[in-house]
Order: sequence, then structure tokens, then C-alpha cells
Amino acid sequence: RQVVFGIDIGGTNIKSGIVDADGSILHTDNTPTDAQAGPASLLGKLYGIAADYKARAEAEGWEACGMGVATAGYVHAGEGRIGYATSNIPGWTGVPLRDNMARETGLPVALVNDAHAFAIGEAWIGAGRSLTEGFLCITLGTGVGGSWITAAGEPYYGRDGYAGGYGHIVIRHGGQPCNCGLKGCWEQYASVRALMRQAAEAGIGESLTGGSAKVLFELARGGDETALGVIDRYAEYVAVGLTSLTHALNPHAVVIGGAVTAQGDFLFSRIDRMAQEQRMPAYGPVRIVPAELGEHAGLAGAAKLAWRSALRA
Ligand code: BGC
Ligand code: ZN
Repeated sequence: RQVVFGIDIGGTNIKSGIVDADGSILHTDNTPTDAQAGPASLLGKLYGIAADYKARAEAEGWEACGMGVATAGYVHAGEGRIGYATSNIPGWTGVPLRDNMARETGLPVALVNDAHAFAIGEAWIGAGRSLTEGFLCITLGTGVGGSWITAAGEPYYGRDGYAGGYGHIVIRHGGQPCNCGLKGCWEQYASVRALMRQAAEAGIGESLTGGSAKVLFELARGGDETALGVIDRYAEYVAVGLTSLTHALNPHAVVIGGAVTAQGDFLFSRIDRMAQEQRMPAYGPVRIVPAELGEHAGLAGAAKLAWRSALRA
């Protein structure tokens, strides 16, 4: 059996796995990114995962053919390095991650932005399989990312690979300071971190044990008016960015991913309703589709690109 390794580096967790050519995920891990520990420590973790996977593949008798690495940050496609990362991953800007990983593993390595990888994964084996006219993909996590999968089934990367920086579309000029250096970015209103900030501002931060969005949703489902208000407002913020993107790109469907996807219709119906209210009627209807691969979408997409590099190598 031939396999590739997929790694997805987010602001909070590194999701990784071993994937075969058909998209079967044979093994997965979740490791804290611990981004504040700096780039050398993060690289060490990635090398550790790669070494572990090589050993696993050997023990199983699988042939390792390549590796795909997805990371938060603007990935320079031509240079295989991170052109710019926000302070969600301090010190990550400029790291030549593709060559580092290739040198370390001896494998062909594909490097890609995490949200593009997410969309590629969903297009390959997830919610995007049936969306043959292309789709817009949004990820609501520690940061907010996205990708526009064209009708050709591939992300639109832009000149350098930096297209999809949707999290840093300014929705409030002069608003909340963002980790990217700008102010009022969508990410500061629609990320999971922003949701937690909004909960704290509403005075219920304290009651959210472990600071988790899950607890906030439990409160809201239980009828807590404050929690419901926070979530309605959050859905409205998500819809604001979505509406601008809808007007820019005119999608048939929007796949939404990230940890909040687990909240299903409770959240999605709200986003859908607000988006319908906000967008120009001519642009509708737009299907809002929850991502299907959960936290595995990014590593699957990275693996898909690894297969492509492996075939070229
Ligand atoms: C980063 C993007 C990334 C997104 C999701 C944003 O803060 O700028 O590069 O795709 O977070 O992780
Ligand atoms: Zn920003």
C-alpha cells in the first residue's frame, strides 16, 4: 500500500494523518501547536510527527510517497515558504517550510495555506464532492480563512498563493485591532476567539468553564438569553463577511468549516437567515453547507497535494 502524510498546522492544534491514494485516512493525531513557544519548537514538533509516521509506515509495510503540509499564514506558492503569518503563530513569517520538511524527511513536500487545504480536502472526499460548479469555503477557527474553489475544482490562489485571505477583509474600518496589524478585520468578529471575546463582553465569560465555545452553545441551547444573544450577534458577523464575499464571487454554495461546524443547524440556520437578509436578492439562493470532514479536512487536502507532488517527483 502506498501512503502520504498530511499535516495541518492551525493556531491552536496540529492535525496530522496518514492517507492513501483514495483518501482513506489510516491514522490521525492531534497535537497542541503551542505557537507561543516559537518557530524552532514548532519545527521540532513537525519533524517528530514526520519521523513517527515514517516509522509507522515502515512497521505496516506501507510505502511513504510524499508529504503535504498545510499551515495558517500566507504561503508563498513558488518559494515554498510562509510569506506572512499573523501573530497567531509568532515567528512563522519567512520560514522555508517546504524545503525544511523535504530535507528532514527525504520526501517530496507540498506546502499550502490551511484554508486552501481545507477546501481541497472537502472537494476531494467531503462536502464539496457533489458541488461540481465550485464553491466558496470559509473556516471559522482560531483565525478565519477561506478558499474559492472554481468550477475547475481547484482553489483560486492569486499571484503568490495569498488569495483567500478572507479573515483580513475589513468589516469595520478602525475596529478591533487584529493579529495581522490591521484593524476591524472579519477575523476579529467571526473567529472562535472573537466569539469567546464577545461572550466575555456580554458578561458570561466566567461561566464558560475551560473557555470553550461548546459550553457557550450548551448555555444557548438551554435557553440562556445572554448566550443566545451572543450567538445571534456572532452569526450576524459571520453573515456580514459572507455577504461581501457572495457579492464578490457569486457562489452557488458556501462550505463552512471549523470547530463551530459541530453546532450544526443551530448555528447554520442563524447564519443562513442573516445572510439572506443582508445580501442583494439577485445573488440568491446560496446554499450553506456544513463541512463534512471535521478536523481532518486540512490534513486530507494537504495529502491530496502530496499525491500530486509525489506523482511529479
Ligand atoms: C490566517 C490565514 C489562515 C486562517 C485560518 C488567518 O488568521 O491569516 O492564513 O488561513 O487564519 O487559519
Ligand atoms: Zn487581520
